[in-house]
Amino acid sequence: MSFDQLGLNPELLQGIAAMGIHKPTPIQEQAIPAALEGRDLIACAQTGTGKTAAFLLPIMDVVQRYRPRVEGSIRALVVVPTRELALQIDQQLQAIAYYTPITSIPVYGGSDAASFDQQKAALVGGTEVVIATPGKLLSHLNLGYVPLKGLDFLVLDEADRMMDMGFIDDIMRIIGFLPEDRQTLLFSATMPSGIRDLTKRILKDPFEISIALSKPAEGVDQQAYVVTEMQKGPVLEHMLRTSEATSIIIFAGRKIEVKNLARHLKKRGFDAEAMHSDLEQSEREAVLLSFRNRRLRILVATNVVSRGIDIDDIDMVVNYDVPSDPEDYVHRVGRTARAARKGQAVTFINDKEMREFGQIEKLIGYAVRKMPLPEGFGPGPEYRPDLRVSKDRGRSGRSPGGRPSGGRPGGSSAGRPRR
Ligand code: AMP
Repeated sequence: MSFDQLGLNPELLQGIAAMGIHKPTPIQEQAIPAALEGRDLIACAQTGTGKTAAFLLPIMDVVQRYRPRVEGSIRALVVVPTRELALQIDQQLQAIAYYTPITSIPVYGGSDAASFDQQKAALVGGTEVVIATPGKLLSHLNLGYVPLKGLDFLVLDEADRMMDMGFIDDIMRIIGFLPEDRQTLLFSATMPSGIRDLTKRILKDPFEISIALSKPAEGVDQQAYVVTEMQKGPVLEHMLRTSEATSIIIFAGRKIEVKNLARHLKKRGFDAEAMHSDLEQSEREAVLLSFRNRRLRILVATNVVSRGIDIDDIDMVVNYDVPSDPEDYVHRVGRTARAARKGQAVTFINDKEMREFGQIEKLIGYAVRKMPLPEGFGPGPEYRPDLRVSKDRGRSGRSPGGRPSGGRPGGSSAGRPRR
């Protein structure tokens, strides 16, 4: 199938062609026609599948093709868990919209008073697509000036992530501000029961799409080192010194590990920076920018950047510890080998993490290659994923925020496709 066959506006086709995108991905093939028919959507898909364009294209097509139902109203609201994702989606929209007059703004927290006023001006000034994190959006909504009466689309992107971060109540509050006569598109990498419940409350007869979940891309060369905790650091250093990879992300489960590891690597002469939720927005953007531009070789990060962040060309992903949620492994590994490129993913497994890694291998459906330790490091432990070992360190393993989730009962407003 080609994009032409999806019936999109010629200006949009021109925009995606200029981006070097020629053939729809499977999620785009399914989501675009359903959304253009006016259906609500539940799409179970990870980053790397082309999910962003899968919702942006139908939204932009409708925005361009039809006049607003209410003059001056925002036409589409995309709610996302992180500011990085908001920026990334906005950038993709700007690229696709190059040959159209469509306007958009990312709205996220951590900004100063001047940017709040700037956001306010854009929100009341006829911006068509708003991409926002829940907290900052609510601050604007509560002040009463955001024009939403003619909203055509609500998109919830990375809904499972938003639930993990405790945003469900905020989302229900946001929905309380929206007209019922709208289309709702929900994207989530996983479909835990909390998300299923949410979809029942806010979606109307949704079209369901599930795209090859829980399998890293075929271009990823996955390897694992079975090590003692003490061996992790030295083996990592050896690997970084001998690897030709020029763009490397190292994931660690906890902020403190990320900070310590980045500090240690810098001391040992590596070009490394930490990325975690304690950094100011401007610091996070500066670190991400230098990594994206390949001025920075090594990014040490918590899960914050494992989902949704659109950095292409990463050569190597290192799991310094085994993610406690198997889906997080798929997401972390998914940072490399994007869009049919080759990449390498290396995981360090200590004796307390073998069982968790066994769960990951079960999820992805095959065993990851275990590498012999480099010369001079001695033998590592034997890989025994079947052994039960008590853990001596409490790992949160999940996202920052950590507020308990759980929706407000009865607060939903069902979306109704309008065409
Ligand atoms: P996403 O899953 O939205 O995070 O997209 C992952 C990457 O795939 C982004 O860099 C997109 O620009 C790119 N992409 C989106 N659609 C396509 C497509 N149809 N063909 C090739 N690459 C695409």
